[in-house]
Amino acid sequence: MKKNFQKIIFILFIFNSAFLQAQRHRCGSAERLQQHILANPALQQIRSRNEIATKQWLANKGNFRGNTGVTTIPVVVHIIYNIAAQNISDQQVLSQIAVLNKDFRKLNSDSLHPQHPFYKYTADAKVEFCLAQKDPNGKPTSGITRTSTNIKKWDSNNEDDIKSTANGGHDNWDPTKYLNIWVGNLTGNYVGFSTFPDELVTAPELDGVVIAFESFGTMGAAGSGLGAGNVLGRTGTHEIGHWLNLSHIWGDAKCGDDSVADTEPAESENYDCPSFPHRANNACGTGPNGEMYMNFMDYADDSCLNMYTKGQAGRMQATLNTMRQALLTSNACSQNNIIENLDLRFLINVFPNPNNGKFTVSIDGDEKSMTTIYIYDLLGNIIKGPILFLKNQSTKEISELACGVYMLKIQNGSNFCTKKIVVTN
Ligand SMILES: [Zn+2]
Repeated sequence: MKKNFQKIIFILFIFNSAFLQAQRHRCGSAERLQQHILANPALQQIRSRNEIATKQWLANKGNFRGNTGVTTIPVVVHIIYNIAAQNISDQQVLSQIAVLNKDFRKLNSDSLHPQHPFYKYTADAKVEFCLAQKDPNGKPTSGITRTSTNIKKWDSNNEDDIKSTANGGHDNWDPTKYLNIWVGNLTGNYVGFSTFPDELVTAPELDGVVIAFESFGTMGAAGSGLGAGNVLGRTGTHEIGHWLNLSHIWGDAKCGDDSVADTEPAESENYDCPSFPHRANNACGTGPNGEMYMNFMDYADDSCLNMYTKGQAGRMQATLNTMRQALLTSNACSQNNIIENLDLRFLINVFPNPNNGKFTVSIDGDEKSMTTIYIYDLLGNIIKGPILFLKNQSTKEISELACGVYMLKIQNGSNFCTKKIVVTN
């Protein structure tokens, strides 16, 4: 009898372990952020300042729906493998990029039906992704790096090492110009994690997203092993949401705040695939429609996630126009071979700056006949240009720019540099 009892306990233990593994959390981003704040309290001050800047941007650009610019973010995927199965194919990488380009543009085929009560909140976030075509040295690249490592697994003891060449992983590429994604054998309590943009200041070497190789993309190893339920690439969509400063919709507390107005308040995370309405009239005060479990920033299975809201899209745009502004002028996805040349910057003068919409660009040096200027707004739209400097012309008057912040892209032969200009009244 006693033996049978022990057997039952043992079986229960095995069953429970399997259950816990199946219930691996999607994401460790919030937990890691709290750890980093504890280790470096200045990070909380930076977050507070950035939150004010985000809210100010949203207040000034509250008519997000009126903006038309789409931002394309250059991506580099660092594949870190110990065995061949973890050295995922280029096709698996491309399948993840394809998911991102659907989910962030509301082009996913499982988007809510227009008659769904939450349809009115769904948004095109106007963000696209491309595999980088130029590496940080301006050399051609596939946007994929492959690193064979002796490290068998990455968990809470060593997971940041995947971001370090010296520790068996791969250093990130300039995080102001690229979205770095590492794919490896994550075996901890979650299948992905991301840094938040605030940490670009305190730990730029950690900036980026890490995803388990079984939860990345939609083919090959995707969905195998511990990746069951994560076979549609939505871990990538979720983590990049964090990377663009979104929080979980339950605000990581019971009925917590995610700083977004149009995600229904949620009691906690949701798993598997609830049916609508879920937790109607919940303790946080949702109406009869309940919680927005299908939001990419919840934990439901991939097949159940399908939307960002307008509020989340606005917040991501705010991030791209503030903390991650340098991405707007990253040219890592352009096919030509022009490269950023900081020396050129010192030959170009813009004055006055700030100005009232009228200013002068002057060029020192003797190659001015080859110089072209484009003026971009912060959404990446070309406002003026190309503006050509004639042979031997050293100054150019530019006028009629409305109030705002612009980027001047000044191209000289195979080099370019950028300058920010501010137009006030
Ligand atoms: Zn998350």
